[in-house]
Amino acid sequence: MNLMRSVIVLVVIDLLGATAFVQGRAGSLLAASPQVRPPAPREVLGFEPGDDRKLADWSQIVGYFKRLASVSGRISLQEPGLTTERRPLIYALISSEQNIQNLPAIRDAQRKLADPRLIASPAERDRLIAETPAVVAITCSIHSTEIVASQMSTQLAYDLASADDPDTLSILHNTILILIPSPNPDGVDIVANWYRQTLGTNTEGREPPELYHHYAGHDDNRDWFMLNLKETKAVTHLLWKEWFPQIVYDVHQQGSNGSRFFVPPFYDPPNPNIAPLLLREVGLIGHKMAADVTAAGFKGILTNALYDTWWHGGFRTAPYFHNSIGILTEASSARLMTPSNVTREQLSRSSTRGMRSAMEATTNFPNPWPGGTWRPRDIMQMEMIACHALLSLASNYRADYLRNFYELGKAGLAPVDSGQTLAYLIPAGQGRDENVAKMIGALIEQGVEVYRLDHELHGTTSAEVLATVTGERGAVTHAIVSISDKSHPVAEIPAGSYIVFLDQPYRQNVLALFAPQIYPDRTTATGEAERPYDVAGWTLPLTMGVDARAVRFIQERPSERKLTLLKNENEVRHDLGLTPWSSDKSPVANPIKPRIKLAVYKNSRAGNMDEGWTRYVFDTFNVPYQSLSETAIADANPRARFDVIVLPSEQTRATPDGEAPETQRGIAEAGYKNLAQFVEDGGTLICFDGSCGQLIKQLKLPLRNSLDGIRSSDFYCPGSVLRIDVDTANPIARTMAKDTSAYFINSSAFEATDSGKVQVIARYGKESVLQSGWLRGEDRIKDKIALAEVTMGKGRVVLFGFRPQHRGQTWGTFPFIWNAINLAGR
Ligand SMILES: [Zn+2]
Repeated sequence: MNLMRSVIVLVVIDLLGATAFVQGRAGSLLAASPQVRPPAPREVLGFEPGDDRKLADWSQIVGYFKRLASVSGRISLQEPGLTTERRPLIYALISSEQNIQNLPAIRDAQRKLADPRLIASPAERDRLIAETPAVVAITCSIHSTEIVASQMSTQLAYDLASADDPDTLSILHNTILILIPSPNPDGVDIVANWYRQTLGTNTEGREPPELYHHYAGHDDNRDWFMLNLKETKAVTHLLWKEWFPQIVYDVHQQGSNGSRFFVPPFYDPPNPNIAPLLLREVGLIGHKMAADVTAAGFKGILTNALYDTWWHGGFRTAPYFHNSIGILTEASSARLMTPSNVTREQLSRSSTRGMRSAMEATTNFPNPWPGGTWRPRDIMQMEMIACHALLSLASNYRADYLRNFYELGKAGLAPVDSGQTLAYLIPAGQGRDENVAKMIGALIEQGVEVYRLDHELHGTTSAEVLATVTGERGAVTHAIVSISDKSHPVAEIPAGSYIVFLDQPYRQNVLALFAPQIYPDRTTATGEAERPYDVAGWTLPLTMGVDARAVRFIQERPSERKLTLLKNENEVRHDLGLTPWSSDKSPVANPIKPRIKLAVYKNSRAGNMDEGWTRYVFDTFNVPYQSLSETAIADANPRARFDVIVLPSEQTRATPDGEAPETQRGIAEAGYKNLAQFVEDGGTLICFDGSCGQLIKQLKLPLRNSLDGIRSSDFYCPGSVLRIDVDTANPIARTMAKDTSAYFINSSAFEATDSGKVQVIARYGKESVLQSGWLRGEDRIKDKIALAEVTMGKGRVVLFGFRPQHRGQTWGTFPFIWNAINLAGR
């Protein structure tokens, strides 16, 4: 398909001068066709985006984009599906009219550049690079209280739709912008409704007391490899199944008292699976943004600080594992859309990794802001300048971005060095079919190639398993296979096993998900652990409880046997005899015995993400439950209504009885008395990690957290996978392996203060406790209690030191939860 030459219409104009249109692409500059003038946001919304105390909700934002798209040939507005709470997701494709008329061909070219196997010759490659626009995605306000970008998106779209200056025309000609006003529309409305309700009251400008995503709250940006949320799935599909952007820019806001604007480069440590070229390109774009914002007169611009690139599940790093450039900026927040006032004193106290004080000039922070009034308009202007800087680079260096993108995909297809892992094998018949389906489904959805082995393979020696397969894999023919894994020799590989080869365009994603993370031991000047921005380890087969083996030797043999490339999770579900997805409703079978009445404690005064993820897991497994507030717990013994109560992880003090309700934060002392009676009367209380401390204290349970009060110089474990030794004879451990992986995130490790009264179900390992991530001070946790049961009266308390349902990602430890609940139905 000849992209740019295929549409030769309209009027060629030469007035603007060829120098504005670098790269020498084929095609012509086209004047806008006669049309209705695009409406400015003010004309539709009734105010300027960014005005103080004015906030467009989701239907207003959608309404504006629809109006704009209806009159502008530069915009194609799409609705890729519905959100968790059934609002429409939207995105706008913005480009020249010529490109907008040519979208299918451009998308096809992008797909080829993303997968070099689809390109027939160097000549075709060169033609695609010469003729294809660069694709840029800009996503706004995934974190809904960081609300300004969602408003800014209307102005950005308007400017691109209406301006006819050479710079804008060049951007439109050379790029396709995928503009997502928010990947979390539900949250835009949660914040807009709350803001309007509180406007003019003394809570004006505060954050809403609930999660701004039904399940995930702020963790909606922690889901980019697991794809639990409908929003993450939709955007992942859009970007990495349809459009393959070269650059993704995610627009955020940070706290109020630090730098005014953080832009990349990022802080240490980098994830070793990110191509160095990408980090350099990130630095270039970040510095261009910083320079342009500074040139416009803004102060307090910070680079090389706080935000690292280690963690894989955030939107700023997900692009790297798709050979794209990922940019994040963090503007200092106002108070939602209300201006704030920041003092020099507040600034001088603000410090972070890479910034000693927001008042101290350094090379990466050369121009501190002196303090004063900070308005939503300031945020919006900086974000607009940053978007323009990005689009301008993408336009001017279009061909470089395309070529680098292509070359990174090609590097993924290069032969793996001998002795290195060549593939990961997921043997059939492991008995965790839902986990296997979920894991492979998520891999496929993010563009990873997974093959099914259609014939059983037999070993011929005991030490080394031999297998023979041939198969077509895209343009590459693979003849396999001798599979050797010295630590886990298997005698045969059953038909229906899955193989993920490393020679694929997204090789780095496979490595980053399957190989253990080894986080560097980093300390501050005082010897404390220097905390990572998010978690340190997440190795997918470990958290999912799926057996996956590294394949290090593949021997070519002639054979007729075939591999099948899988297209979606339903193909895996079909293989495994599981109910397929046919609608929004999860097809996973409910593991809970009938008639067990279950409640989940929900803090009604502050959103708790662990509570949200707990509901996510129950909804995904079709487990019925009710949410129970602290007021309901304090009002009456819940035993009459429930058999089981789950307390998600949350660290709150117990509110003394009689304290004013508006200062209460969690369960009151009266509530704990009712919870104790609930257990005495035969109820099962299941408590996760952070909630255990208060429960142990209030119910006088014979346990203590042995990590309480220990400095991070002596013990530190921020989001890592740890080995636990399980007492498989205990009914709560039914179906679990003796050697199991558990998720630990600054979590708990117990000692019994009266060992006769504590039933230990699992302990942290006696050795080699760390499986993936970072663990400092292993001796402090070795052999400590990870999961325990205490009987009280006719009931029991089950205490998890770790997070059995962390972010809906730890399917490997879900059975502990099901078993603990099912014990109530004995
Ligand atoms: Zn954010």
